[in-house]
Amino acid sequence: RQHMARGLPKQKPIAGVKQVIVVASGKGGVGKSTTAVNLALGLMANDQTKSVGLLDADVYGPSIPKLMNLKGNPELTNKNLMRPLINFGIPCMSIGFLVEEMTPIVWRGLMVMSAIEKLIRQVDWGNLDYLVIDMPPGTGDVQLSITQNLPIAGKSYSKGAIIVSTPQDIALLDARRGAEMFRKVKVPVLGLVQNMSVFHCPKCNHQTHIFGTDGAKKLAETLGVELLGDIPLHLNIRKTSDTGQPVVVSSPESPEAEAYRRVAAAV
Ligand code: ADP
Repeated sequence: RQHMARGLPKQKPIAGVKQVIVVASGKGGVGKSTTAVNLALGLMANDQTKSVGLLDADVYGPSIPKLMNLKGNPELTNKNLMRPLINFGIPCMSIGFLVEEMTPIVWRGLMVMSAIEKLIRQVDWGNLDYLVIDMPPGTGDVQLSITQNLPIAGKSYSKGAIIVSTPQDIALLDARRGAEMFRKVKVPVLGLVQNMSVFHCPKCNHQTHIFGTDGAKKLAETLGVELLGDIPLHLNIRKTSDTGQPVVVSSPESPEAEAYRRVAAAV
């Protein structure tokens, strides 16, 4: 009722899902998908009683199948819902399970929306404490519609957005637009994740701030949101992602995995 009072339509909840965490970025290539995957695994690593699902809403460039080492077509339940594919204990859904890997996706906005709607709701998620959604990069119409179509935070149901950015000015500008988009549709911004902040040379131990130093930290302060964490630029993150063995599960003792678990603990 409160939502109606604020003039916002009340959205249908996603069956079985308690909380939605949207992982967004102002631009591509900043590590949004890598963060989404390791966040999902980090949430589970921090509390094994929690069940976590992962939805790849990045329909233009789905990367969850590769990152989670999954392929194949989802089976249908007798209610005609798609059964997510599961790896590392995480049920996942992606357009990548439904189309050939090399098929270019040249859909118009409305088709994208209806595909994402199906990927969200025509899926047998089971009971999830968290559904982590890897958004398409950017802050255009499609991103806005997805955000609006998700259930609005309620008493027993909530959602929030995490924005991933590098410490670089240009990425930060886009991240700021992302934060403004979520504010406009009244989705709480849970915080920023600064990615690729520092490169620690494994040979000489020197630390280099390739994309600048505290950019995301300063932006978080300006926007009045939390800085949820700082992920270093690390070869291990790139390698484990490329082989479908995310760092949180393949090198749980590493400082990189620890950095993701800290983000998960902060949301
Ligand atoms: P986005 O989803 O924002 O497009 P990705 O998560 O696909 O970005 O990451 C882009 C590339 O950068 C991938 O090759 C990924 O392995 C790599 N990458 C992401 N974060 C890091 C990091 N912290 N250290 C090293 N490589 C990273």
